[in-house]
Amino acid sequence: MSDTFKAILVSRDAEKKQSVEIVDLTEAELMEGDVTVAVEATTVNYKDGLAITGKAPVVRRWPLVPGIDFAGTVISSSHADWRKGDKVILNGWGVGETHYGAYAGRARVKGDWLVPLPESMSPHDAMAVGTAGYTAMLAVMALERHGIVPDRGPVVVTGAAGGVGSVAISILSTLGYHVIASTGRNAESPYLIDLGAAEVISREELSQPAKPLAKERWAGGVDSVGTHTLANVLSMTSYGGAVAACGLAGGMDLPTSVAPFILRGVSLLGIDSVMAPKPVRLEAWRRIGADLDLKKLSTLSRSIGFDGIVDAARDIVHGKIRGRVVVDM
Ligand code: NDP
Repeated sequence: MSDTFKAILVSRDAEKKQSVEIVDLTEAELMEGDVTVAVEATTVNYKDGLAITGKAPVVRRWPLVPGIDFAGTVISSSHADWRKGDKVILNGWGVGETHYGAYAGRARVKGDWLVPLPESMSPHDAMAVGTAGYTAMLAVMALERHGIVPDRGPVVVTGAAGGVGSVAISILSTLGYHVIASTGRNAESPYLIDLGAAEVISREELSQPAKPLAKERWAGGVDSVGTHTLANVLSMTSYGGAVAACGLAGGMDLPTSVAPFILRGVSLLGIDSVMAPKPVRLEAWRRIGADLDLKKLSTLSRSIGFDGIVDAARDIVHGKIRGRVVVDM
């Protein structure tokens, strides 16, 4: 008889009403792939919250095991790069959207999607970073490529107390940037300062409709909010600066004008973690292993068990999660 393992399954009925249940699966029920992994840690990202609550159409195959990222150990592999016992990380590639994902004891995926776990990190550490933190690193790398180094001036991080925001603040402050954190939760100021923010500003300063250009306040930014917030960040970016756009926690629209681009030479840098090519992922995880202070990582994360995933998913879409939530399987 095959071993069973627990999994979260989201399903949809004939009226397209979504439901979530915990089921027992066997390896035979997993989807196609050339590597099977024992999932040791996963996490709850904003996108996982959208998938489980059905608030946005993240799930595009029914039924589906959600969960867009995991870290674990290879159980079996017919892929040339991976052997039984290898420690691996997976982020994105449609896992938890169109392919059975991380919220199960086992996952079967394409070996091309996996990257090695950095030697300095445990599966738990890697998921304290998770897709949110790996995206934050992609944003930092994009700013660096654009020449936004600490000497250029302050950088703003919006959605600061969330997952992307918290990791972005940790990385940027460790690299020597003067970080301005924008949050809607003023009570989290001590937490943000502890992570390395030099200044904390209120979300309201950036949430009203933006002027085409406003007083120059920062050389760059990492935005996970979108809509008016991103428009304001752009209009307040100094000459030649750049803003990495990675999220839509406030909304998907971008009510801005061309003024920051054509009058101040500001650049808007798009960040996508899901389909990022493998060399970029390898570099991002190498940098995470090198540039992220593991002590700060424990400050910004907390652990839950498998049974806490659904509640955490509901909380994250209501902006109630601080930092990162790690699921120890
Ligand atoms: P979190 O929920 O952890 O963080 C989002 C933060 O945004 C919240 O903590 C809150 O910060 C702020 N926020 C929430 N709602 C609003 C609102 N209505 N108006 C203004 N600010 C708001 O999510 P993650 O950090 O995991 O993800 C952030 C965003 O990045 C999401 O949209 C997610 O989909 C996207 N993302 C994109 C990726 C990519 O590949 N491009 C990969 C990973 C994430 P505070 O309380 O401090 O104001």
